[in-house]
Amino acid sequence: MTEPSQPAAPFVPGPGDSVVVYLEPDAGPSGSAGGTGSATGFGDAGGSASGSAGDSGVRLRVDDPRRPAILVTDQGLTRGDGVFETMTAVPTKGSGSGSEASFRVRKEDSHLARLATSAEALEIPLPPAADWRRAAAAGLEAFAAGNPSVNAVVKLVATRGPEGAPGGGHYVRGGAGVGSLTGTYWVLVSPVSEGLTAARERGLKVLLLDRGVDSGLAERAPWLLMGTKSLSYAVNMAALRYAASQGADDVIFTSSDGQLLEGPTSTVLMARRVPQPDGSTGIELVTPLRSSGILPGTSQGTIFAAAQAAGWQLGYGPLEPSDLVDADGVWLVSSVRLVAPVTHLDGAKISQDPELTELLNGFLAEDREPGEHGPWNHDSGPIGRVVG
Ligand code: PLP
Repeated sequence: MTEPSQPAAPFVPGPGDSVVVYLEPDAGPSGSAGGTGSATGFGDAGGSASGSAGDSGVRLRVDDPRRPAILVTDQGLTRGDGVFETMTAVPTKGSGSGSEASFRVRKEDSHLARLATSAEALEIPLPPAADWRRAAAAGLEAFAAGNPSVNAVVKLVATRGPEGAPGGGHYVRGGAGVGSLTGTYWVLVSPVSEGLTAARERGLKVLLLDRGVDSGLAERAPWLLMGTKSLSYAVNMAALRYAASQGADDVIFTSSDGQLLEGPTSTVLMARRVPQPDGSTGIELVTPLRSSGILPGTSQGTIFAAAQAAGWQLGYGPLEPSDLVDADGVWLVSSVRLVAPVTHLDGAKISQDPELTELLNGFLAEDREPGEHGPWNHDSGPIGRVVG
C-alpha cells in the first residue's frame, strides 16, 4: 500500500480501460464533509489527487475503477438510494494523443441540471456543478492517455452515502448533516460500446410493456420519485431482459390508463408528415407528456430545439399505442444510443422513414441549448398537443 506521505503515481489507463474520479469533500475541521474524510472511506488506498480542492472544498482523486472503493454500507448499494447521469464526450478535432488529447462533453449543462433536480427530489446533498465539471474533465484527461480518439461515456453518480453517517441512515429533512456533503460521489469515464452502433443501424424490435401505474400518479405521489434518474433501475433492466426473452430489443412502457411513457433507458419520439394548406408537407414531432412521470430526456430536448428552429411542429403527448402505428417513424433516443429507429411494435412491422432518421441524427448532433425543452421544464411546454 502507498504510504500516505508519498504522492501516489497517477493512474494511466490502457486502451479500452475506464477511469474513475472520486469527488471527496474536504476532511478538514472546516470541511464540508463534517470531518468524515474520504467520501468512499478508501481515501488513502491509492489513486492520485488531481489539483487542489475547489471552492466547495471538494478534492478529486483519479483512480483505476477495478480497485475496491465503495463501502458495503453505502446506501447507493444497499437501497439503490442515489442518483446518476450518463453523458457522452467526443474527442475534439485535431486532438493529439496522451495528455494533449481533449474531449468535449455533450449537453453537459442539461445533464448537470437534471442531476441537481434528481438529487433535490431524493434530498441528497450534491457538490456544486463546477466540481462535477472538474471531475469529468480530470477523468477525460486521464482516459485520453489510453484512449486518445475514442468516444467516451461519462457517468456521474451520487449516493446517500454510508448508513450511520451524518445525513445517512434514516434521513429526514432537518436531520443531522443537512447541507453538508455526506454522500458518495464519483465520475466514471469508459469507452462507448461498439455494439450500440450495430443496434442503431439494424433498428429496434420493441415490446409495449405495462408499467402498472396511471399517468397521473407521478403528480399525486412525489415520493415514488417517478421521472427522476435514481439508481433504482432494477425494474428497467428486468423489462429489457423480459423483452430479450421474447426476441425483442427494447421496451416502451405504457401506463395503466393506456398512455405511452418511455423506454427503460430512452425517450420515445414519433413523427408524421402532414400536408399543409399551402400544398407543402410539414413535419410533426411528438414525444409523450413529461408530466406522466417520465424522465425528461436531454436528447429529446436538444432535438426539439433544433426541430423547432427548422420549422417543425412539436408536441408533447398524451400519446397512445395507436399513435405509433399511424406514425411515419418512431424512435428511441438517448445520450449514448443516439437516435435508434423502431422497426417493430409487439411483433408487427411499423413504418420507417430513413430520411427523418437522418434529420433527427443531424438535430441531435447540433447539441443546441434546449431552452424551453430542457430537463428543468417538467410541464408539457407551451406548445401543446398536435396529435389527435
Ligand atoms: N428515459 C430514461 C428512463 C432514461 O434512463 C434515459 C437515459 O438513460 C432517457 C429517457 C434518455 O435520456 P437522455 O436523452 O438524457 O440520455
